[in-house]
Amino acid sequence: MNSKKHDFKPAGLYVHIPFCQTKCRYCGFYSEPIKNHAPQRLISAIITELTEKRGQEPFFAYQTIYIGGGSPSCLPAKQLLRLIGEITSRCPKPEEFTVEVNPGQVSKDILSQLRAAGVTRISIGAQSFASEELTFLGRKHSVADIGRAVRSAKKASFDNIGIDLIFAIPHSTLESWKYSLRSAIDLGVQHISAYALTYEEQTPLQKAVEAGEVKPVDEETDRQMYDMTIDELEKAGFKQYEISNFSKPGFECRHNLNYWANNPYLGIGPAAGSYWNGKRTLNIADIKKYIEAIEQRKNVIAESETPDNIQVACETAVLNLRRRCGIILDEFKKQTGFDAAKLFAEPIGRYKKLGLIRTTSKRLCLTRKALPIADSVLCDFSTT
Ligand code: SF4
Repeated sequence: MNSKKHDFKPAGLYVHIPFCQTKCRYCGFYSEPIKNHAPQRLISAIITELTEKRGQEPFFAYQTIYIGGGSPSCLPAKQLLRLIGEITSRCPKPEEFTVEVNPGQVSKDILSQLRAAGVTRISIGAQSFASEELTFLGRKHSVADIGRAVRSAKKASFDNIGIDLIFAIPHSTLESWKYSLRSAIDLGVQHISAYALTYEEQTPLQKAVEAGEVKPVDEETDRQMYDMTIDELEKAGFKQYEISNFSKPGFECRHNLNYWANNPYLGIGPAAGSYWNGKRTLNIADIKKYIEAIEQRKNVIAESETPDNIQVACETAVLNLRRRCGIILDEFKKQTGFDAAKLFAEPIGRYKKLGLIRTTSKRLCLTRKALPIADSVLCDFSTT
């Protein structure tokens, strides 16, 4: 028996690859065109950061690993496989190992190599099955590329494939959204994420809206599209387990469940966030400065804060309530030391009367009626 068993804590490892082929019009994530950088130098820096941080927590077991971005699939295959090899040599046999890929950037050959290297799950950034919507968003792949990527992943023996979609794209209609949903379902994937298009500060899309060149989809249509998402996916056997995430039974993304449980995770790479030893930190969001800091053995953390007990309880509540199972009262008490029903008695009472929150002796969750306006409901749980 392992006498140190109690020293293991559930945790996720996230590696941020801040490279993309080109920048999409709506994207607010930190990423830069790969052609301006030397990928092998960044991967070496990421491996150094991983080695140092991993070394500080000898009893830490990563249950899930996620390489995201950016576009990890725009890395040269040799560098991506090198990174995966270094991760699995330090964190063998995770429960789930996801790599995000862009359709159009993967072949059966590279996907087979990822599978053989220990990757268990592929997340494909499809976004839409309407060509004109992909063009509008500034995506560089075609609709046909999405089908090809899914079929290649299946041929490479992946049986856990996710697709990301975006709704409420200007000029889209309920019909075009239904077509995207149906197309994703017909590809036989196990997981679908569906987010409404957001207008992030300083993006070309947001500037176009400000200039009056682009008109966002109206609120009512946005809501109808979201309702349609739930109905269509549930009809097709997907279970909604989070506001924007749906899966076939048993294929929930465990890595993201870890975030919504407010469990610790370690983020590696430029702009990666961590929740680690009770501290929230953010790495330098600049590839060049990040690499220099690592190579000169300097600190790569740009921002750091340690939430107090009440803040941890509020953060946990907001994250838990994103899940359809909501706050599990016993777990919440064990994790934060607070009784959620007492701590949030005021918003719970108010939203129960409006039919937006449901409570039982064991849990507290949002009702379906609350889902389209979840952000405003959750706001009232973010402070006490
Ligand atoms: S591929 Fe993804 S991360 Fe890269 S620019 Fe487009 S939306 Fe942003």
